[in-house]
Amino acid sequence: MRITFRDVSYTYMIGSPFEKKALDAVNLTLSSQTFTGVVGSTGSGKSTLMQLINGLLLPTTGQVQNGDFILHRKSKRKYVKQVRRQVGMVFQYPEHQLFGSTVEEDMLFGPKHLGLDIEKSRQRFPDLLELVGLGEEILPYSPFSLSGGQMRRVAIAGVLATHPKVLILDEPAAGLDPAGHRALLDLLRDWHDQHGLTTVLVTHDMEDAARYADEIVVMDEGKPVISGAPTDVFRQADQLAGLGLDVPASVRVSRAMQAAGWEVADTLLEPEAL
Ligand code: ADP
Repeated sequence: MRITFRDVSYTYMIGSPFEKKALDAVNLTLSSQTFTGVVGSTGSGKSTLMQLINGLLLPTTGQVQNGDFILHRKSKRKYVKQVRRQVGMVFQYPEHQLFGSTVEEDMLFGPKHLGLDIEKSRQRFPDLLELVGLGEEILPYSPFSLSGGQMRRVAIAGVLATHPKVLILDEPAAGLDPAGHRALLDLLRDWHDQHGLTTVLVTHDMEDAARYADEIVVMDEGKPVISGAPTDVFRQADQLAGLGLDVPASVRVSRAMQAAGWEVADTLLEPEAL
């Protein structure tokens, strides 16, 4: 599904002394089936942008088009719910989204909520659990008896069980060790490739943006200020530095090698090759 922001502004707590304009006349298109990395400093508007995609927030002004659906300030709840069916969201620390008494009950929550065929959904659980590196034997266990890493995998399997057309990942690997971090993002990128989703990854990690995204959007003070393919975005080193963002080491090394006359493909170097 293609997502288009047309002149979208969002202001929190309008009319109060704490009024805050978080997004300012944003025009942005996230192409269908593209994996987009959204980067920017804290407070630049990344989370607000994500919550507008699935209608958790409605624009103060402007429109967000999500496939054939158009969300605006006065969209009705029933309509917004239809949009939410299409969008899966993995927040930071997704394990905090768990609350069922068993793993199975937790994984059923999304499909039930969306009115999907429960039996069909249930049949897919073993495959989904395997995909996230767990076994079906954990289905009857309490999610709270699992380790933090396992809980996170269950939460993600639960989101994938709803078969979203759009997947929003807000720092999904926060707090994991490097191997777990990598494994989780590899898995989410594979899922994206296999199912042709539109995926948006919010991250502060420029290596992740370089490695996983087809497109990068850099946010600053409520606006996208740079966007494009990673190689193009990382050419704007000075502008990125001005926003407190680093060009990833893998990209810098590959550039230095090219400058020194080495033949390096214009694709980015694998960070682990450094
Ligand atoms: P990011 O995800 O890039 O850190 P956010 O979208 O969370 O940025 O925040 C953008 C701006 O909106 C910030 O100035 C933040 O303080 C403000 N903001 C975010 N959420 C709220 C809220 N619930 N109430 C008031 N202001 C908020």
